[in-house]
Order: sequence, then structure tokens, then C-alpha cells
Amino acid sequence: MSDRDDDLKVCCEYCDSFVNADENENCPNCGGSLREAIIREETRRRIEKIDDEEKQRRILQEERDARDRDEIFDLIKTVAGSAAGGAIAGGLARAAGEFLKDDLKKALKKK
Ligand SMILES: [Zn+2]
Repeated sequence: MSDRDDDLKVCCEYCDSFVNADENENCPNCGGSLREAIIREETRRRIEKIDDEEKQRRILQEERDARDRDEIFDLIKTVAGSAAGGAIAGGLARAAGEFLKDDLKKALKKK
């Protein structure tokens, strides 16, 4: 009947049974106080959440860095390729080459 998907379940430190701390301040099995168990569980969840956010930030940052490196690689390859094949590719390649060189300068300046 709970509309929350994260009911606070704690392990009673007196009888080692798992009980719902949202509904009980004392263990329904042994009557022991759940206060310590609740504080421990809430702290554990907070730390877990912070860890996840930190991990997610790191993973996203690594993804961005990898994409940036790939783009610079591609730009270098394309600019080098267009310089070598410029005679064949004509005006379109030259226009694209200029455009890419500008981008490459910007990309390298960022570093
Ligand atoms: Zn208990």
C-alpha cells in the first residue's frame, strides 16, 4: 500500500530481523529500538547516492573526453586527407578543408 519504492528496511541490531522502519520505531519482533539501525541505514543510503552521482559524473566526463579526442583525431585525418587529395576533390574539398581547419584550431585552443 506504500506509494514509495524505497521503504526503509533495516536490520534490527538486537534480533537480526529485517523490519520496515517507516512503520516501526521499535522492532516488532523483539521490541528493541530501531533508532541506531535507521540512522545507519539512512547514512548508508546517502553515501551510496553520493557515490553514484560521483561515478555518473566521472563516467559522463570520460565519455565527453573520449568523444573530444575522437573528433580531433577525425579532424586531423580529414584535414591531412583533404590537403593530399585537394587536387582531386576540388572546390568542395577546399571549402570543407577550410571549415575543418577552423574547427580544428578551435578544438586545439580548448586544450
Ligand atoms: Zn528485533
